[in-house]
Amino acid sequence: MKPQVIIIGRPNVGKSTLFNRLVGKKLALVDDQPGVTRDRRMGDAEIAGLQFTVVDTAGWEDEDELTLPGRMRKQTEASLEGADAAMFVIDSRVGLTPLDEEIGRYLRENDVPIVVVANKAEGSAGESGILESYSLGLGDPVPLSAEHGEGIADLFSALWPIIGEKADAAEAAAELQDELDEDAPLGPLKLAIVGRPNAGKSTLINRLLGEDRLLTGPEAGITRDSIAIDWQWTDPKAGPDDDGVREIRLIDTAGMRKKRNVTEKLEKLSVADARRAVDFAEVVILLLDATQGLEHQDLKIASHVLEEGRALMIAINKWDVAGQIGTDTPSGLFNGIRGALDDGLAQVRGLPLFAVSAKNGKGLDTMLRAAFEIRESWSKRVPTAALNRWFDDALDANPPPAPGGRRIKLRYITQAGTRPPRFVIFGTRLDDLPKSYERYLVNGIRAKLGFDAVPVRVTLKSPK
Ligand code: GDP
Ligand code: GDP
Repeated sequence: MKPQVIIIGRPNVGKSTLFNRLVGKKLALVDDQPGVTRDRRMGDAEIAGLQFTVVDTAGWEDEDELTLPGRMRKQTEASLEGADAAMFVIDSRVGLTPLDEEIGRYLRENDVPIVVVANKAEGSAGESGILESYSLGLGDPVPLSAEHGEGIADLFSALWPIIGEKADAAEAAAELQDELDEDAPLGPLKLAIVGRPNAGKSTLINRLLGEDRLLTGPEAGITRDSIAIDWQWTDPKAGPDDDGVREIRLIDTAGMRKKRNVTEKLEKLSVADARRAVDFAEVVILLLDATQGLEHQDLKIASHVLEEGRALMIAINKWDVAGQIGTDTPSGLFNGIRGALDDGLAQVRGLPLFAVSAKNGKGLDTMLRAAFEIRESWSKRVPTAALNRWFDDALDANPPPAPGGRRIKLRYITQAGTRPPRFVIFGTRLDDLPKSYERYLVNGIRAKLGFDAVPVRVTLKSPK
């Protein structure tokens, strides 16, 4: 999730020194990651709060099947895959060598943004090398001394425009994950609105924010702005002892989209947006267009949200014109979508479905109220005693099968986690338990224990 920055350069320019400088104290934590070739070291780097993964490509010198430039190229190409930026290190005291120029040539052919680092630039011994490095045609070099720790602020300035946004996003996602993991008290509702292009996402967001728009606090400033909008919604139907004010952090996927490459296919975009959004959201609203109905693309987005364990709601937008376009009456349309959802997403029947209009505001308060409720159940913990009372009843009502005459024993159930709710069922001969029986139990949990419409995870375990 964090941006990846690769260090590239010929031997002895100071790549490892730079790597160690960026990784700092955390170096001890660096270990061989599975799936990473042995000639790459990865570490968590941080410059002034900008966090990224740094990858050192040093060490390839040991390979002997290819010539030096050949090996260099092979290694570089492999490293650039998946990289968000590359630091191309040269030795400013030596100046450009033919190998540097060769590396420069194929870096220019590549799409990964490059920052040229003119290392060993302490004192003035590097001046001519720094000037020479402009001729690489890879932009302004950053003079630096990895060994003495000089020029790191300039490196930050060069990297920030390239990876800053992704680093912020990664940090926000990690923060949310921490919150989810530790059963922290519920903060502002983290809500994302996703859907195909033209479903009305921007219109809806503008409608919701309206005059209530609260600018993000100062801590948000540079880091959050582009990702989340904090605002307050007042529930008009709140009880007498409740002012109805609810904090919502809206994940602005539309904003994210604008900044991305416009050549990306629109089709792909909405799925990519949804993928990004669920990293940040607790509840996701999938917006449909009443004039278009439910399409395969919508089911794909919905499945992804559920697979990621987020709470999902569906809102049919443009209800103000439902029944005016096409042949269906509004209720026919609603029921048709209800049925198609239940068929298409068999794992979660009965997803909350709303008819709304971003244009005239109808249905929006009801939808937001439901978003808070669904988060409540998504975060809920059922006491073990109550859980097992239900479990015993469920087994009595429909005992597990006895394939080959031998009973499958299900002994007890416990809730292992929340957000999404996770359960573990202990028993024996679990490998033989039919999927249909598992589904019976999952449906029971959802229907009888108040987890309607929430993705629920169940794991089966045999005691050792
Ligand atoms: P690599 O092969 O590219 O990983 O290079 P190393 O990091 O092993 O560095 C090669 C040599 O350059 C070592 O002797 C380092 O101490 C030296 N070196 C690295 N950075 C600097 C620097 O900023 N200034 C000077 N003067 N020497 C450096
Ligand atoms: P996005 O691509 O999902 O952000 O969609 P937009 O917000 O740009 O809306 C696409 C089009 O649908 C625009 O022409 C909107 O005016 C229109 N639209 C959005 N919401 C509604 C609605 O509730 N009713 C009607 N009739 N049109 C809407």
